[in-house]
Amino acid sequence: MIEDKNQARTPLSELGEFGLIDHLTKQFEIKHTSTVKSIGDDAAVLEFSNKQIVVTTDMLVEGVHFDLSYVPLKHLGYKSVIVNLSDVYAMNAQATQVTVSIAVSNRFPLEALEALYEGVALASKIYNIDVVGGDTTSSTSGLLISVTAIGEVNPEDAVYRTGAKPNDLLVVTGDLGGAYMGLQVLEREKEVFKVNPNNQPDLDAYTYIMERQLKPEARKDIVKLLKDLDVKPTSMIDVSDGLSSEILHICKASKVGCDLYEDKLPLDPQVISTCEEFNIDSTTVVLNGGEDYELLMTISQKDFPKIKANPNLTVIGYITDESVGANLVTRGDTKIPLQAQGWKNFNS
Ligand code: ADP
Ligand code: MG
Repeated sequence: MIEDKNQARTPLSELGEFGLIDHLTKQFEIKHTSTVKSIGDDAAVLEFSNKQIVVTTDMLVEGVHFDLSYVPLKHLGYKSVIVNLSDVYAMNAQATQVTVSIAVSNRFPLEALEALYEGVALASKIYNIDVVGGDTTSSTSGLLISVTAIGEVNPEDAVYRTGAKPNDLLVVTGDLGGAYMGLQVLEREKEVFKVNPNNQPDLDAYTYIMERQLKPEARKDIVKLLKDLDVKPTSMIDVSDGLSSEILHICKASKVGCDLYEDKLPLDPQVISTCEEFNIDSTTVVLNGGEDYELLMTISQKDFPKIKANPNLTVIGYITDESVGANLVTRGDTKIPLQAQGWKNFNS
């Protein structure tokens, strides 16, 4: 859980701001012809022809979005890029560039930031992204990372939250609830560690959900899959806050209702067993958990034959008239209105 125990601790003051920026960013190479000017000037210069440009930002704050007692910095750097790419893919766009801004206190040595940027570099390599800029500043105590992602999309391919129509299928990628249950396990082990620091946690039974929490992936593959299947969703959103709140976003933006079927929710066996262990209802976890970074979309009925055999896509319900509202149809066949559970960070 605790990292770089025996590593060097070079104070940031040894490099100074510009030395630090240079040290962290010299590894980045340009991959896209749309990147005309990258790090090293007052601004990056990008050039896209015949495309629409997608821009999105997400900020991660220590103590609010992550806890460094169990999140390795490399994973944090990786995840801070992934959460932004996920928003680009939710527009059915291709991500091309990111900027990475950090606020950091002198409690962090250079080696910590190197680890953070290893994660940034790994994500940019795997997802084929140019890191084209950012900002570096000091903070009084915590660490803050803000990433902006830029992407491109053919104007006719962009998918918004607004296009869902009654009778469309409600479809989700992958499986849900893993990231939240991974967090539950990590929080539990943190408490155990506080009581007995010699107790080495055995996390073998939780590898999948641990990875879902610590090293999430963004569904770049789905943007390609949809293109290959020749399916353009009528609406799409990424699942960052829990299924319930994402469905409500689509319903509100599209002025529709929906029926979501509890027995169709895609669950990994490890999510089911960990829910049993923690005595938590798996449906509650899926609806309110968050951080799965899957894609939720609506698809016209006429496209059903194209998607029905695909293991990446699960039909979990369908769109109804706005007047009916957004509902969960339980295993017992009762209808319960879906509730928004967003803004957890402010409530807890
Ligand atoms: P300015 O003073 O114009 O804001 P900076 O000295 O902050 O410029 O940044 C110099 C260059 O390094 C710019 O290209 C900027 O985008 C880039 N940069 C600064 N901090 C970071 C960072 N943390 N990660 C990536 N690029 C950075
Ligand atoms: Mg600056």
